[in-house]
Amino acid sequence: MIYDVIIIGSGPAGLSAAIYAQRAELKNIVIEKTGFSGGQIINTYEVDNYPGTPGISGFDLSAKFREHCDKLNTTFVTGEVVELKLEDDIKLLTLDDGSQYKAKTIVIASGGLPRHLNVPGEDKFSGLGLSYCATCDGAFFKNRKVAVVGGGDVAVEDAIFLSRICEKVYVIHRRDEFRAIKSSVNKLLENENVTILWDSVVESINGTETVESLDVKNVKTGESSKIDVDGVFIAVGYIPTSQIYKDIVATDDSGYIIAGENTETNVPGIFAAGDIRTKDLRQIITAASDGANAITAVERYLNKIN
Ligand code: NAP
Repeated sequence: MIYDVIIIGSGPAGLSAAIYAQRAELKNIVIEKTGFSGGQIINTYEVDNYPGTPGISGFDLSAKFREHCDKLNTTFVTGEVVELKLEDDIKLLTLDDGSQYKAKTIVIASGGLPRHLNVPGEDKFSGLGLSYCATCDGAFFKNRKVAVVGGGDVAVEDAIFLSRICEKVYVIHRRDEFRAIKSSVNKLLENENVTILWDSVVESINGTETVESLDVKNVKTGESSKIDVDGVFIAVGYIPTSQIYKDIVATDDSGYIIAGENTETNVPGIFAAGDIRTKDLRQIITAASDGANAITAVERYLNKIN
């Protein structure tokens, strides 16, 4: 059997692609790693920025996406893709159990995972004052003290966003200059309730039931200090799950698959949707939008080759 399209990943991008693929009557399957759909949003306490579902939990929103796919009779296969091979125009996928699937096109929508700091307390307080997504969870820290760790665009934009909500925002960055674009940095520095801790790293995240403080070390002076915060947002980049595709599709220096809004990669018939592709805004809504664009691009490609 050669599928029209195989969708890899069942986060918002993959599930949106699945809905469009079923409605377009394409022969398709979705391969998901855990047998549980939703991707990263499963862990989001509350999603308040997806239109039409204010305050829904990430878990419930992903269940709704999945129900929609089930209603359209989408076929899900559980397994991890361990190899992609090209056989002329056909894409051959091998899963971790050795099973193989062939398709005319694939949509890679397997997302990215937030990079962790790997410090004591990080696992313990995840979801208990520690978050990897300020736009998802920032509202829970209204008028409270928080810290953002990182110095890239996401950290700086998160800190600006949080400065409007929170009483105090510390930004903890390991160097003495930001990686983020200057215009954002300038906007951040205008805020009186923001303090930047330069040349600093988090040594531990402390608390009893939820986050209460951070141990921070200045890497230049070697001095350690404790700062009291109610929340900490870690924004030290993402690790895209693109490792096994890297030799076939072009990726940028950070490992994101290079693709524009039409989701086309440098390889005809391979599309990248959601957090795994190069883009400015990684959100549920932009991932869902990518899924739609990907299947539209798939149809365009199939019309050309069929
Ligand atoms: P990023 O640009 O890779 O920045 C990650 C930041 O975290 C860097 O400042 C880095 O420090 C720091 N960091 C990395 N590992 C660390 C560790 N173990 N401990 C402490 N700090 C650590 O990631 P991002 O901010 O998530 O952005 C991802 C991509 O999306 C980037 O290409 C970004 O430009 C893009 N983006 C663009 C926009 C926009 O254009 N508006 C908005 C958001 C994101 P160093 O600086 O010392 O390396």
